[in-house]
Amino acid sequence: MPELKFNTAEEIDAAYITLQATFRAGTTRPLSWRKRQLNQVILMLRENIEAIVQALATDLRKPRLEALGGEIGPMVRRAKQSAAQLDEWARDESPQVPEWQRAWSPTILKRPKGVILVVSPWNYPIYLSLQPIIGAIAAGCPAVLKPSEVSPNVSSLLADLFPKYLDPSAYRVINGGVPEITHVLKLKWDHITYTGNGTVARIISRAAAEHLTPVTLELGGKSPVVIDPETTNLKIAAKRVLWGKTLNAGQVCVAPDYVLIPRSAQDAFVEAIKEAAVELKLDGALASDSFASIVSDTHFKRLRSIMTRSSGKIVVGGDAIEEQRRITPTVYRDVKENDSLLEGEIFGPILPIVPVDNIRQAIEYINAHPHPLVLYAFTDDPEVKQALRDETRSGGLHFNDVHQHMSVDQLPFSGVGESGHGSQALKFTYDEYTYLRSSVTVPFTAEPLVSLRYPPYTEAATQA
Ligand code: NAD
Repeated sequence: MPELKFNTAEEIDAAYITLQATFRAGTTRPLSWRKRQLNQVILMLRENIEAIVQALATDLRKPRLEALGGEIGPMVRRAKQSAAQLDEWARDESPQVPEWQRAWSPTILKRPKGVILVVSPWNYPIYLSLQPIIGAIAAGCPAVLKPSEVSPNVSSLLADLFPKYLDPSAYRVINGGVPEITHVLKLKWDHITYTGNGTVARIISRAAAEHLTPVTLELGGKSPVVIDPETTNLKIAAKRVLWGKTLNAGQVCVAPDYVLIPRSAQDAFVEAIKEAAVELKLDGALASDSFASIVSDTHFKRLRSIMTRSSGKIVVGGDAIEEQRRITPTVYRDVKENDSLLEGEIFGPILPIVPVDNIRQAIEYINAHPHPLVLYAFTDDPEVKQALRDETRSGGLHFNDVHQHMSVDQLPFSGVGESGHGSQALKFTYDEYTYLRSSVTVPFTAEPLVSLRYPPYTEAATQA
């Protein structure tokens, strides 16, 4: 795999000019053209499975099963479904109107916003790059993809594959680091989708504001897990939560970040976690192909630092191999509120258990922190479920398992507050890049009907 080639400012400007011209020429507008491009995305993924799996393995040591099931498979499915449903999504709508306005043919037209910029991260570099691109194609918008320089093999592969499969006058990959993306952000885009962290999201939002460009922000944060020991199966809950932390070595935006559990049940939950760790063979994780690595030395050092500074007690894991950037999934108990593990999003295979007095205190803890991307709860108590629905805010609300809401294609994926705004997935992505254009045709025969509006205003018109 070649070293990641960064694009020059001249190349970026030229790509931008080309895409603008393509949009103005109407190339991306016909639904038949969009469907062909969507089919090309499917072909690109299918014909390059091995190259993609290899690039993901080189960048992240991502296991083959996770590459197929978590990156390639969902994007093939969503490109297929988008092509199949496009006619229905793009259909003009005629709203119900009062009798006297019917002759005006009021219509809602679905129109492409224009040229889209997609800035994607390294943790699911295929999924998070292609989901917005699929949406842009479906909506009839050209797009520039700026993948992450932190996953250089995947970013390089995408730059190689795009021109082979997609119309290069409409879809381009721009690679680079901060100077290149800073240049990209000076240009006026018609919509920007950014997936990543809150600090960069603020930079993107400020740049977008200069041009009044709308943005979709898919961010992260600390997604809590509430365990209600009275009504849940602790054994299954522990296994599901622990698995959620091992997937992609915990480098998942919706990874369960920490557990809130009533103090009286902590011992039992820890025992269940230990049993689950044996079942998942976590003691062999450092040598196993079933566990991904930490993406970079910087990320590895950050994780080791929060681990060594924690005053929680390790009950599972704790080992690491620096040269391979691998960390055994590690669980801490008795983690207190000001602990290093609770400072920011962990984004690694580390699970702190935070004991609380009761479920009510867990809800108060969640509400005292930024709204998470997802709130997980293991409970079958209808009142607890209702309290979580009504009294907390989060992008997703997920009962009795983790990560599964991502696999329901028909659900919108989005954050709220600091976890982001705007939605993704199938029609929700299509809608982000589509604007609703209102149209009426007022017939000249309506002149008698509208004549009251003309000045000079009469008493009769004011009464009417
Ligand atoms: P990252 O470092 O790869 O950054 C994402 C993108 O931002 C990259 O393309 C990068 O080039 C660009 N970037 C970096 N610095 C920039 C700057 N100064 N100005 C403009 N652009 C810049 O990824 P990351 O931020 O480390 O990703 C991890 C975060 O993303 C976590 O917080 C995670 O929760 C979140 N995330 C959210 C979702 C979601 O769908 N909500 C999905 C995945 C990850």
